[in-house]
Amino acid sequence: MLGLRGASAPDSRGNRLCHEGAQPAWPPCRSRWNVPMLNAAALRDFRAIVGPDNACDDPATCYSYGWNAGLGGLPKPNRLADIPPVGIVLPGSTEEVQAIVLACLKHNIRFKSHSTGWGSFASVASPNSISIDLRRMNRIEAIDERNQMAVIQPYVTAGQLQAEAMKRGLNCHIVGAGLTHSPLASAAAFIGIGITGTTTGNNARNLLSLEWVTPEGEIVRIGSSGSGAGWFTGEGPGPGFRGMIRGFVGTIGELGVFTQIGYKLYPWPGPKALERTGRHPQTGITIPEHFRLYHMVWSNWEGVSRAAYDFNKSGVAYVLLRLPPNTFGALLTATNNEFHKLVTAADAPDIVRDTDSHRHSWTLLTAASSKAEAAYKARVVRDIIERTGGRETTLDPAHKELIAHLLLTSISVPRALRPSASMASSFGGFVPFAKMPRMMEAGASVLKDDIQPGGDLAQGSSEEFWVWPNERRQMWAENAFSYDVNAVRSRGAAIRVALDQGNMIDAASDLGFDGFGAIGPLADFYGPAGNGASTWMRRIKHRFDPRAVNEAAFYIGRDLPWIAKYWPFLRKVLFFRPFRPIFRQITRVLAAVGVGIVLKKRRKWVDRGAGL
Ligand SMILES: Cc1cc2nc3c(=O)[nH]c(=O)nc-3n(C[C@H](O)[C@H](O)[C@H](O)COP(=O)(O)OP(=O)(O)OC[C@H]3O[C@@H](n4cnc5c(N)ncnc54)[C@H](O)[C@@H]3O)c2cc1C
Repeated sequence: MLGLRGASAPDSRGNRLCHEGAQPAWPPCRSRWNVPMLNAAALRDFRAIVGPDNACDDPATCYSYGWNAGLGGLPKPNRLADIPPVGIVLPGSTEEVQAIVLACLKHNIRFKSHSTGWGSFASVASPNSISIDLRRMNRIEAIDERNQMAVIQPYVTAGQLQAEAMKRGLNCHIVGAGLTHSPLASAAAFIGIGITGTTTGNNARNLLSLEWVTPEGEIVRIGSSGSGAGWFTGEGPGPGFRGMIRGFVGTIGELGVFTQIGYKLYPWPGPKALERTGRHPQTGITIPEHFRLYHMVWSNWEGVSRAAYDFNKSGVAYVLLRLPPNTFGALLTATNNEFHKLVTAADAPDIVRDTDSHRHSWTLLTAASSKAEAAYKARVVRDIIERTGGRETTLDPAHKELIAHLLLTSISVPRALRPSASMASSFGGFVPFAKMPRMMEAGASVLKDDIQPGGDLAQGSSEEFWVWPNERRQMWAENAFSYDVNAVRSRGAAIRVALDQGNMIDAASDLGFDGFGAIGPLADFYGPAGNGASTWMRRIKHRFDPRAVNEAAFYIGRDLPWIAKYWPFLRKVLFFRPFRPIFRQITRVLAAVGVGIVLKKRRKWVDRGAGL
């Protein structure tokens, strides 16, 4: 026996140490294998809400919810979250979600929403938390062709929605996580930028009306659905809450549960279904009739930037994307060995060459619904290439099919994680394309020698920028590098780059904003802290989650980390050039002991029970 509060002899399941009807216990109950689990009364309540098959606290199942694909979170040598959920509950309706939240309040248990759980962001981060897995809420409630929108539940995947939309001459935004992610999670709760942004924008803007179960268990409809007027807008009549629950980054599952949204769709001039070619994992598509794919290069970033203005103004691009040559190498091959062979071959294709005459590139997909429209777009593209001093390169036909598939579905974006299974991303943007040369130079300088052979990061191109236009206007530019999660030096370099680039953006003021600077603890250190946003985020968190029943790790910590108070002084010292060697050492130490040590206000906070 472990001698915990409320513990008793094992029941018929043989592994429960909390007795039925025990008062809510803290710390949480533990199984005979010392694994945290739900107290029996809470499990009974959850089962009464969702049915016996849809709630469990089996340790093996709970631990499987602690795994993630390796994106997000702090660099550490493990894909398993430090803390597994104590239980998994699968609601089938908004009312069941509401009842689960109320049961969490009753039993002093925290919760975190989980749609498809791609990054680490859906993992629970504090003890005695359950995962609310929304996979049973997987319905496309409606597709309104005339108004180009859909009404969707949390577990509708992007692939499912795209397939249905295309049948009706429409298409949806798909973020880099690819076909399996949840557009609702992305639109209502988390960032939402994606490579098709030229046409499909970003999800902060694709979110229309929404339904929200607050951390206090109230069902709120925001925008037109609140007045029973359909799901077509997220604003009015009355106060607009959309900015508060969304902003650019979103509340990352830490301010209630979103159960249904209106979601914007876009015109699709292609066939009713994409025709797949090749074999998994190298699946491509037949390029639809009247579509055309180009890969073009310029001799410098000024040329690329001028061409971007013209492509955007002319409206010929369905998708316009710049990827680093190295990343194209990873996306076009099935294994790391194939990748190495391809990029080091004497006759390597232009698209994977990281030289001055190859890296300044755009990859462009034009889409048209008639021969005449396709011919017009081809003439415009040729004209822009000529006027801006670019040239079109030849693509291997098999590569064309793979790239077209990537551009329309983001299918192979997750493959960027393959070289080292760990990736971090810096910069962001939403700046004019005129800033492109400066942004590229800044990105290369922050990675410097560490990205070269023998450096501390995984080897890559001289910079690792993924760039595309947002709604044919601003530039989104993301410097996405890989590192070795098992090497302290490499994890240290990833921390250094993240800190350096945040500082560089704040100091330079003309590099746009750090798109990821409001995620979790970063919000207390960089841009959002400077303009007071993190103070408001924290106020909102406390006001709408007064009993601390929802997680607080990625959106905003409930308390200011102690180090944030000294940060204005510390940053002056750390980023002062003569201190660079010391800064490097500090980031290595942090990589070895864990960044968490400087981010907690006090250890007690983490251990505090919900609502206490
Ligand atoms: C390889 C890779 C590439 C990625 N590329 C991009 C990218 O280009 N752009 C981008 O924006 N993101 C990207 N992501 C991050 C993330 O996976 C996506 O944002 C994705 O849309 C989230 O959907 P999901 O189904 O994976 O959500 P989950 O991982 O389930 O959830 C994401 C977050 O939203 C919360 N959440 C989920 N459902 C709800 C709900 N119903 N109510 C309230 N909160 C909820 C979760 O708690 C979590 O914090 C990428 C991730 C990976 C692994």
